[in-house]
Amino acid sequence: MSINQKSYDYGASRSSIREIAAYGAARKAQIGVQNVFDFSLGNPSVPAPDSVRESIERSLSLPATQLHGYTPAAGLPIARKAVADSLNRRFNTSYDPGDVYMTCGAAASLSITLNAIVNPGDEVIVIAPYFPEYRVWIEAAGASCVEVLADTTTFQIDSDSLHSALSERTKAIIINSPNNPVGSIYSRERLKAAATVIRECERELGTSIYLLSDEPYREISYGAEVPWVPSIYDRTIVCYSYSKSLSLPGERIGWILVPNTNPDHESLLAAVAGAGRKLGFVCAPALFQRVVADCVDVPCDVGAYERNRAILTEGLLRLGYEFIEPQGAFYLWLKSLEPDSVSFFEKAKAFELLPVPSDSFGCAGWVRVSYCVGHKTIVDSMPAWERLAAAYRP
Ligand code: PLP
Repeated sequence: MSINQKSYDYGASRSSIREIAAYGAARKAQIGVQNVFDFSLGNPSVPAPDSVRESIERSLSLPATQLHGYTPAAGLPIARKAVADSLNRRFNTSYDPGDVYMTCGAAASLSITLNAIVNPGDEVIVIAPYFPEYRVWIEAAGASCVEVLADTTTFQIDSDSLHSALSERTKAIIINSPNNPVGSIYSRERLKAAATVIRECERELGTSIYLLSDEPYREISYGAEVPWVPSIYDRTIVCYSYSKSLSLPGERIGWILVPNTNPDHESLLAAVAGAGRKLGFVCAPALFQRVVADCVDVPCDVGAYERNRAILTEGLLRLGYEFIEPQGAFYLWLKSLEPDSVSFFEKAKAFELLPVPSDSFGCAGWVRVSYCVGHKTIVDSMPAWERLAAAYRP
């Protein structure tokens, strides 16, 4: 075959999350939606706010050529300004609209950023457990993916492990807080410790290392502070999306921020524009850039996820399960009742429970329970969780 082998491999092997979701859909068709407890996907169950609909309706009265026309490659000036102004209000910064590049969601934000910075032979570190698509995007950009295990009691960044993995080949580190799959939020203290380690390494090796802060869950915190990473580490680039905060995953809209405090600001902005062009990821969806301009400060309705979190954690705790208390996002990191999480998943599946085994995220012994589902699904799933726990009792 003369086609690209790597692309073929990515396409031929579906992500295990998608695999489980496809099984869930087929199973629901077979035995009824109400009988399958599908905790596989991170598809928000909270509807997009009314202000999104209102913004779309307002935009529809624009002349069609204006509404549907190409935007500038980096995005509409009104959208970029709205994003920069909002960040400046919230984080006491002085970003310019020109520092913002509008994208088709966090996937594009990360792909563009990686393509903007890596050269063949570079390494990009991910903190395991991690969102599995990171590896695909890193390798597609021509770098290799290096996994560094988080501190497995708190699932915060383990600075010692990070230190051991840093080398002259390290170009970047991807961090994600609030975190998918764990639901942890990296504390200011731990981020500062990681930043110190990275700076020391840069000095010793004479290299520059970027921190890519992937933040689609920034707005979904249950009280803990989500520190603004560029204020902790200068060479940060922020990748954002409205997939979760405004429940718009299908609309593909987000942005990249190259903060003006990043010492490589000018060249990075040019490289981001070049990578967007190289990948064909220019002109993010025009209608939803207008939505961003209108809705940038609309709060995320965290309440529904908070209620789901409460009922799920209380129920599972009562049944004797162990898990990491989720501080943000909408995922619960549940300890597998046997060392092999795939085997645990197979047993759960027999009770119509569909979490995702942790091996998919580069970490053994856990499953991810995605609780952005209807409240009733969680309530109704409890007897199944009980039967699963009972199956492990002697
Ligand atoms: N990063 C993380 C951590 C995610 O969980 C997701 C989606 O679930 C993405 C990136 C991709 O987001 P988007 O749908 O905006 O491309």
